[in-house]
Amino acid sequence: MGPNCGMLGILHGLHCAPGPESGGQKSRESGNQGEVMVAVIGSCLCGGFRFEIDGKVSDIHRCHCSVCRKATGAGAIAILATAAKSFKWLCGEESIRSFRRPSGWETAFCANCGTPAPRLQPNGKIWSIPMGCLDGDPGVQVAEHIFVGSIASWDSVSPGAAEYREWNPENEQ
Ligand SMILES: [Zn+2]
Ligand SMILES: [Zn+2]
Repeated sequence: MGPNCGMLGILHGLHCAPGPESGGQKSRESGNQGEVMVAVIGSCLCGGFRFEIDGKVSDIHRCHCSVCRKATGAGAIAILATAAKSFKWLCGEESIRSFRRPSGWETAFCANCGTPAPRLQPNGKIWSIPMGCLDGDPGVQVAEHIFVGSIASWDSVSPGAAEYREWNPENEQ
């Protein structure tokens, strides 16, 4: 396992609705996780927010649970993690709103255009970054798919990535 696993582990717990307990069965794992140094800009559709990542980023985490599908309007959320010291708002932080479910699951988005926005995890140390708002290539790959047990009939997983029916048991708290 790569050094980024701690960051991905934090994302697991906060981006996904707890599903029915059935043991977090692991079906495949490639071990391609790693950390990459990048300098990349991200922004929303209306230009209301812009941010910069300058530092290490994790590989990409995708969750196919029903909450992430609705929150993104897609087959799965796609996010990476970066440390607080590597993330900087360039503008528009005040334009961001959030929505919280009773479970504590929360998502952030631009109040004007609805683009999913970066969100600082409650520990104050890690930002989760929606891949779709990056304007450049962070040079990382999808490392894992979770909640593949809930995958849409029309969707598929990335070749070579790890797949878990629910949680990745190595990252459960
Ligand atoms: Zn999810
Ligand atoms: Zn916007």
